[in-house]
Amino acid sequence: MTRDQRRSSRRHEPRSFRCGHCRLDVPTDAVGTSHRNHCPNCLWSRHLDETPGDRAAECGSMMEPIAITVRGDGEWVLVHRCGGCDELHLNRTAGDDNPLLLFRLAVLPLARTPFPIEMIGAF
Ligand SMILES: [Zn+2]
Ligand SMILES: [Zn+2]
Repeated sequence: MTRDQRRSSRRHEPRSFRCGHCRLDVPTDAVGTSHRNHCPNCLWSRHLDETPGDRAAECGSMMEPIAITVRGDGEWVLVHRCGGCDELHLNRTAGDDNPLLLFRLAVLPLARTPFPIEMIGAF
């Protein structure tokens, strides 16, 4: 988001943000989450919050989606790592997140095992 865009949104909560990674204009209303904090197209985020929605972080760097984890109820959660300060954040996935990218993140460790996958059968 440029400074001009930020100024033009005045006192209202911005209704959309420009993704700093793929440049998509992302509406802030998301299915299944009250604070959309990552881009549904490329899943990148920005380090703005200390806790979700508080906008307390001064870092502001782009956060790369590096992994998927799953909560006990089956909800998928994105792990973001900040490119500026290396902080890790957990973010709920939204209903319109890119399913292919989510899936790729989820299977990435299986696609790149540090040992031959045939070894699994040996134990
Ligand atoms: Zn994006
Ligand atoms: Zn950061």
